[in-house]
Amino acid sequence: MHFVHVALPARVFHAFTYRLPERCPTPHRGARVIVPLGRRRVVGIVTELVDAPPTGFETNDIKPIERILDDTPILAAPLLQLIAWMAAYYCAPIGEVCRTALPKRLFELGGPRTLRPTEPNEFIDVGVVREPPLLTAAQKEVRAQLIAPLQNQQSPTALLHGITGSGKTEVYLQLFEEVVKQGGQAILLVPEIGLTPQLAHRVTGRFGKRVAIYHSGLTDAQRHHQWERMRSGDAAIVVGTRSALFAPFPNLKAIAVDEEHDSSYKQEDGGVLYNARDAAIMRGKLEGAVVVLGSATPSLESFAAARSGKYHYLHLPDRATGAKLPTVEIVDMRKAAGRRRGGSRTAPTGYVSLSEPLAHAIDETLARREQTLLFLNRRGFARFLLCTACGHVPICPNCNISLSLHMGRRSLVCHYCEYAIALLERCPSCKSPELLPSGSGTERLEAEIRDFFPTARVTRLDRDTSEKSGVRNKIFRDMNHGAIDILIGTQLITKGHDFPNVTLVGIVSSDNMLHLPDFRAAERTFQLITQVAGRAGRATKAGKVIVQTYLPHHHSLICAQNHDVETFAREELPMRESLSYPPYTRLVNIRFAGNREDRVEKGAHAIADILRTKTVVLGPAASPLEKIRGKFRWQLLIKARDTKTIATTLCGLHEQSKSLLPAGVRMTIDVDPTNLL
Ligand code: ADP
Ligand code: ZN
Ligand code: ZN
Repeated sequence: MHFVHVALPARVFHAFTYRLPERCPTPHRGARVIVPLGRRRVVGIVTELVDAPPTGFETNDIKPIERILDDTPILAAPLLQLIAWMAAYYCAPIGEVCRTALPKRLFELGGPRTLRPTEPNEFIDVGVVREPPLLTAAQKEVRAQLIAPLQNQQSPTALLHGITGSGKTEVYLQLFEEVVKQGGQAILLVPEIGLTPQLAHRVTGRFGKRVAIYHSGLTDAQRHHQWERMRSGDAAIVVGTRSALFAPFPNLKAIAVDEEHDSSYKQEDGGVLYNARDAAIMRGKLEGAVVVLGSATPSLESFAAARSGKYHYLHLPDRATGAKLPTVEIVDMRKAAGRRRGGSRTAPTGYVSLSEPLAHAIDETLARREQTLLFLNRRGFARFLLCTACGHVPICPNCNISLSLHMGRRSLVCHYCEYAIALLERCPSCKSPELLPSGSGTERLEAEIRDFFPTARVTRLDRDTSEKSGVRNKIFRDMNHGAIDILIGTQLITKGHDFPNVTLVGIVSSDNMLHLPDFRAAERTFQLITQVAGRAGRATKAGKVIVQTYLPHHHSLICAQNHDVETFAREELPMRESLSYPPYTRLVNIRFAGNREDRVEKGAHAIADILRTKTVVLGPAASPLEKIRGKFRWQLLIKARDTKTIATTLCGLHEQSKSLLPAGVRMTIDVDPTNLL
């Protein structure tokens, strides 16, 4: 072999060919090399060894590699295959996928050689290794089903559908125990960085020092260190977010994807737009590892795959501790009385955040010295400021959306680009002082709650209050110690936390989720309410959930009320099928963005015209959010039974996009998009 293909950190969709100089040893596939690229020297990964130059080139046309950095591969064959699959499936440059899969430091010129970990593992405070609890009969059955394939080298994908608290995590841990006993390693993926500390604590309680932690909150050096611990066999279990999927374990036997429905598994902003859950399934196939997708509210994609027999369906219908599911009450806001300042009752109006039934339930919960969670998926004081004299609403000049009112900061803030102006005293258009804050956010809800329940200890958790690191964990500690009576928050309070004394959960507005212009709005609302409801009454106490809505008969709410995933899927799937949405087709969203709207539109049309000769194209049209951070946005959508057939075309378009698009227009290809706004 005289030539190597090298994946480079560049926006190209194939590997580059380099020559091996005389007397140079042959590098391994998956090893790093330093090569010249234009005037630069860069670190790349050897993907292939070949004995002839590409057709049309002479040996001397091809530049030689400069140095081999690793004498063993840093990417084993299955990981290299996974990377190649991702590059093709997500239409991404292969070098960029390599960079996603490896710690950044490994690509630094003059950066570290691969090293043996010598430093102590700074994240993990070990002590006590706890005994696992005895599994319930249902858990035992699930565990047996997951362990069986380990013996006969199969690699099935299983969907573990289990209500919150049914003991899914316990099942993953006992599956991993078996894996470790057999000399293998396992990955536990969680959707969000905020969930890793608690889970890591639980996992180290079982596996001690053999646990690695891997997520984007680590420094480059820490990431590299954790990566080396996995590669050397020092760690056998990794707990982490998306990129933990690329754990360099030599004998990977199991992957558990917790909360598989969570859209955080999809990389959304920049980099390779991959879904870590889907890539995990592919890695399992390539490694011969068991993959278990766990959720109380499986995505409709996974649910349909389980129903068709593509995934193995496993069910945990009861809570492991015997606790009951909470009762869910739907409050019809068209009819309910609202509570006002000073406790007086009023007729319903658009500005009341709390209905009398919810306010009353809070009173009762406070009297029992138990805790309440109030969920509202909008931060800030009000969604916009309306001039009641002339109708003017201040908007963000970069994003064309209304500015949200933040009282704490005394400003109007854009939630997309953080553009902010000082709070206005008078309307900039007509000078009227009659400015009305409209559409409640968590900040206003907090003010109201403090007003209504003056003796309660109230805390708010959203992106505004949790910016400083550690705040979130402190709030969770205070909740567990009973130092908070009412916790108000956004999505941040909904995930994975186990507060034994929370017996009331209020969903202040379910409607602003249902009305999002996204085909998954109903699914997301169903999942969110079911998940939030799972926070109530987890231990020995009964829980209650109150959902406020103007759409009391919507199937998302009724099914969430009954904790009924099957019925929800039965009602929602035929709609998806009739409109050719996932899981019946795959979507590819192609976005165009640039400073000049006419050029963005023109570029979108140019690409649409090319694609129309190959497949059905919806659009192009201006994106629902037409302008973000000063960039105009257009998009077109492809619905295809099988994206493989058009993947090659898309990769080709992506690669030539510079010559196909007007200057200043950037194209992004988003395969299996989770966000269509
Ligand atoms: P899930 O992941 O489905 O939400 P967990 O595994 O976190 O469920 O279990 C919920 C609670 O029940 C946890 O406090 C856990 O320690 C406990 N638990 C799980 N399995 C058992 C069991 N077999 N016996 C006793 N307690 C259990
Ligand atoms: Zn005005
Ligand atoms: Zn903005």
